[in-house]
Amino acid sequence: MLVPSDDHFSDSHSADAFHLQPSSQPTADSARDAILQAPGFGQHFSDHMAHIRWTLDDGWHAHGVRPYGPLSLDPAAAVLHYAQEIFEGIKAYRHADGSVWTFRPEKNAERFRRSARRLALPELSDEDFIGALKALLAQDHAWVPTPADANDECSLYLRPFMIASESFLGVRPSHEVDFYVIASPAAAYFKGGVEPVSIWLSSHYKRAAPGGTGFAKCGGNYAASLAAQKEASAQGCSQVAFLDAAENHWIEELGGMNLFFVFSDGRLVTPRLTETILDGVTRNSVLTLAEDEGLTPEERPVSLDEWRAGAESGDITEVFACGTAAVITPVSELVTEDERIRLSAGGDNAVATKLRTRLLDLQYGRREDTRGWLTRLV
Ligand SMILES: *Cc1c(COP(=O)(O)O)cnc(C)c1O
Repeated sequence: MLVPSDDHFSDSHSADAFHLQPSSQPTADSARDAILQAPGFGQHFSDHMAHIRWTLDDGWHAHGVRPYGPLSLDPAAAVLHYAQEIFEGIKAYRHADGSVWTFRPEKNAERFRRSARRLALPELSDEDFIGALKALLAQDHAWVPTPADANDECSLYLRPFMIASESFLGVRPSHEVDFYVIASPAAAYFKGGVEPVSIWLSSHYKRAAPGGTGFAKCGGNYAASLAAQKEASAQGCSQVAFLDAAENHWIEELGGMNLFFVFSDGRLVTPRLTETILDGVTRNSVLTLAEDEGLTPEERPVSLDEWRAGAESGDITEVFACGTAAVITPVSELVTEDERIRLSAGGDNAVATKLRTRLLDLQYGRREDTRGWLTRLV
């Protein structure tokens, strides 16, 4: 057990600025406990939500925490027609001493501003982004599940999002915007735990194109990936891998996770960031932790041909996907319209498992946070 030091409990992102309107009907303790026993993913929500409003004239204002519940939106709200929307995904972890922490929230706040710029939405400061997480958790900390043991990956998944709420059907950036954070208790993302998954390679659909929104975390990217996701499900695959739009040759990423390749000589390769690849916090963390594990991280283009050849020759010993929701998930095969690419070597996913354990131990406070990656929420 590591004792949290006071300097991690920074007051620079104050939750005090948020006006509290408490829920008059919070979930009963017994009902909440029943949910936390088996939360699933994204199905249950805590009692409150954080909110900040933005208008062209007044900027960000009206910071508040209020009861979770339906939004009242005019049917002409711009987001419903033109999808001017961005979101984030970040988790709150309960440590053994009961304290609640989150992982590298400055990275998410910074990415949220990059996404905002691309979608012509107003930028939110670190102070407001992290302050909203703290303000929400100050109310709803009982919704952070307590892990039963080191294999229990339960957490409170936090979903910040920003929408264009002005009622106006003209096409221009909205003059009214709302930012919310909602919270959903989560068990492990994939039901089968760390069971390796099959991935479908979409031969027709593309996720992102140069000049487009691929690097931004926006709902539109996900909407555009769903037809490919449907193909994947029909093929018995749980996720889709996308090739680049320009050459149809380079492996980019999955619909919501980055990809890594482990080579037999200890290199850990991931596609280099371009404007069509999302800069994952997990990806960035894995690249850093890889050196602690004696691996040689490499960011460079990876082609479908290299995947196929490496799988066949045994040069590639593991493939895994990573993201906040599912952490690190081994990929057992790539399924395309005319082939199944399986790794001839390996199969034990030892590197993915090692990196996964290292990351989770850090997030749950079982390993010393030497890089200052944790921020205390409660
Ligand atoms: C969110 C997301 C990821 C993973 O990012 P993390 O910060 O690691 O959660 C990867 N790819 C896409 C397209 C995403 O939307």
